[in-house]
Amino acid sequence: MAVIRAAERKGSPAIIQLFPWTMHFQGSEFIRYVVSAAHAASVPIAVHLDHCIKLDDVEKALKLPFDSIMVDASTLDEEENILQVKSVVDRARELNITIEAEMGRIEGGEDGLPSVDMGTVLTRPEEAKNFVQKTGVHFLAPSFGNIHGGYPAEGAEKSWDLPRLAAIGELVSGSTPLALHGTHPVSDDLFQRTIPLGVRKINLNRTVRDDYTGFVAKNAGSLELTVLKMQGVEIYAKSVERMMDVLGSSGRY
Ligand SMILES: [Zn+2]
Repeated sequence: MAVIRAAERKGSPAIIQLFPWTMHFQGSEFIRYVVSAAHAASVPIAVHLDHCIKLDDVEKALKLPFDSIMVDASTLDEEENILQVKSVVDRARELNITIEAEMGRIEGGEDGLPSVDMGTVLTRPEEAKNFVQKTGVHFLAPSFGNIHGGYPAEGAEKSWDLPRLAAIGELVSGSTPLALHGTHPVSDDLFQRTIPLGVRKINLNRTVRDDYTGFVAKNAGSLELTVLKMQGVEIYAKSVERMMDVLGSSGRY
């Protein structure tokens, strides 16, 4: 609700992201509800399944009305990753579903995601080009020092290898937009510096959620549930609206 309200007010397109956790915990009927609410909006809103690591989950997702699915085969070796992603891309195309894939391995885990402790593998630009050409994937999530679930004290500024991101963008972003993962916390300025490098899909989790969870934590014991929900959604929507302005999607529809 918060994303849809924010997008309609800002005249911005948007993507609502769910984790495989949602498919398991809330079930297929809930996914259908989210998709139909998103598609009923007055601006284009897609529903994306993020970090689909298990093949069973990919199979399940291909039977649901998702607009896009991220196939996270980053725990496999590169050749296996290419084969697996390509077979999913081929099938998804017939269903009008786009596919995002991770290349290399992004460090860490975040709420809703299993934490895979296999070490980080940074994406090599030439390999990224090869990967995109061989798989036909629609979005690429590169690993360039970005981390899921929070940065050390020096922050994302210190962890991110922007020249690497630029080199990857140079080789692939003409055909394949880049997706940015590991965005908490990231300064507005640093977000904006990734856009000229080919980043088009920016995953926001805690950046737009923290004000909402803070509000709920503070008021859950005192407000009526209906009031808590209405005010909470409004706070969430305001956080999303702010980021639509920062990232430049406001007014783009
Ligand atoms: Zn991610």
